[in-house]
Amino acid sequence: MLYSTLVETYERLEATTKRLEMTDILAGLLGAAEPEELEKVIYLTQGKIHPDWTGEPEIGMAERMAVDTIARASGLKKDEVETILAERGDIGLAAEQALNAKRQAMLGGKRFTVSDIYGILDLIAKESGKGSSGRKVDRLVRAMVNVSPVGARYLARTVVGALRLGVGDMTILDALALAYTGSTGNRGLLERAYNLTSDLGYVSRVLAEEGLQALGELHVVIGKPIRMMLAQRLSTPEETIEKLGTCSAEYKLDGERFQIHKKGGAVQIFSRRLENITRMYPDAVAMTLDHVNAEEAILEGEAVAIDPETGEMKPFQTLMQRRRKYRIEEMMEKFPIAVFLFECLYADGEDLTLEPYTIRRARLGEIVEENDRFKLVRAIETSEASDLVDFFEEAITDGTEGLVVKSTADESIYRAGARSWLWVKLKASYQSKMVEPVDLVVVGAFHGRGRRAGSYGALLMAAYDPDEEMFRTVCKVGSGFTDEDLVKLPEMLEGDQRDGKHPRVDSLIEAEVWFNPSLVMEILGDEITLSPVHTCAFNELREKSGLAIRFPRFLRLREDKSAEDTTVVDEIVDMYRAQTKTM
Ligand code: AMP
Repeated sequence: MLYSTLVETYERLEATTKRLEMTDILAGLLGAAEPEELEKVIYLTQGKIHPDWTGEPEIGMAERMAVDTIARASGLKKDEVETILAERGDIGLAAEQALNAKRQAMLGGKRFTVSDIYGILDLIAKESGKGSSGRKVDRLVRAMVNVSPVGARYLARTVVGALRLGVGDMTILDALALAYTGSTGNRGLLERAYNLTSDLGYVSRVLAEEGLQALGELHVVIGKPIRMMLAQRLSTPEETIEKLGTCSAEYKLDGERFQIHKKGGAVQIFSRRLENITRMYPDAVAMTLDHVNAEEAILEGEAVAIDPETGEMKPFQTLMQRRRKYRIEEMMEKFPIAVFLFECLYADGEDLTLEPYTIRRARLGEIVEENDRFKLVRAIETSEASDLVDFFEEAITDGTEGLVVKSTADESIYRAGARSWLWVKLKASYQSKMVEPVDLVVVGAFHGRGRRAGSYGALLMAAYDPDEEMFRTVCKVGSGFTDEDLVKLPEMLEGDQRDGKHPRVDSLIEAEVWFNPSLVMEILGDEITLSPVHTCAFNELREKSGLAIRFPRFLRLREDKSAEDTTVVDEIVDMYRAQTKTM
């Protein structure tokens, strides 16, 4: 497939925000790719060369370097390219204009294929060490002179990590189902395969090469993170027992979720956002090797910062000190952790994801040799609400957030990638009608005035609607930030700033600045109310009204969460209903 075919498709994708139309356009592209290049087409369309979690280097070129490349490829002077960039405000449009200014036809005279471009980008990503910047630019110049000016637009955006076609994972799955099975009706099967491997390229290859049945029989793969199962929320132990019947209640620790993959002497750790965080936690790697009695295993647990002397758990913010690229050993000494395990998803050849909770938990007990720092999370089995009340109190006294109560029924499988009613979280309540904080993503902002000049006065926050893959607004938050936070905000958000609203953001409010949905914050409000200006659950409870959070306050950043991990619209609807019930 020629890269120009990809580029034509990108132009058509950019011209629409309608999901069905996007799916059709993409299906046409994916159906036309040869099976062996399908993976590359998918990664490139996501603006990547491989899934984020591989731990392999990303392309991530600085804008400055892209400007150098454009100057060399077009023959313009660097400051001329910079002027164009300042005018257009987008590196892609700048590349296109610069190349158009200097030539009618392709300079290199070659017609690069998708594989050619993929190969070059892969080499650019892998370049490191002395002189690597120069070699990266050389390689990219070669790519740029062998594609059209429009091709250069997308190449430039790709290398600086700003392709952003607005195509979500589910749209890609729909398009694959349409292209290879003739109907989006088979999406479910593809989705399960994706939930088990988190690798759209891999799923597409199995589908194209081996067919739908093989995809249906797919198992978990060590080294490919399983998309994590999440919990629904209820407010009382009574409701929880009513929903689950006999269940296992576990402490809900306030740390960072780990998915640990062990293969012989090699260990990889994935975060809830499926980042490869192995490098940051050498202590967890060592503990896994010492305490897991299986050649191969996939386990899940929560890592918590602790005081090694007292065993006391430290707040989440302490653990976040471990989230860094440098001085890892020093931080490991300073902020030791304990890992509390709660899942065994695979052990020595056995895929346990379709086994019930009791079997998985028993297997976990068999293969883990516990000590103070690496052990199974505390749990009790019960079918009585009164037991839950007691255990909840114990959990809170021990410094946890509450309980995750899990079904032990025969059908209590591990529902990869789902927020399932097989797990229910019960969290400690705060003294306001809105009992729990929510996680929301920043989608826009308003400039600050007076004391806040130079920073933002308020941020426009959204919840996630997974059915439509859209972010819908619920509040503007301006309180709860310290002076220090306010100084940092513009810096933190700078990389995500964009012209106009992101195609996956649904907002009736016109923000002064728009962002790609990326930065997640924990927000607590006084209550949830109906509102005509916010789009969360719009028209769902009342005609022309959505839901809003009143008096929202910033509690803390949730850098461990991705935009898609934010509180979902349905949860906010449930919280609204629960609150109106108790008021
Ligand atoms: P939330 O982030 O409020 O949706 O709560 C779900 C998160 O709680 C999971 O992603 C885990 O990181 C964390 N967690 C803590 N303890 C447990 C547990 N025993 N079982 C499952 N998740 C837990």
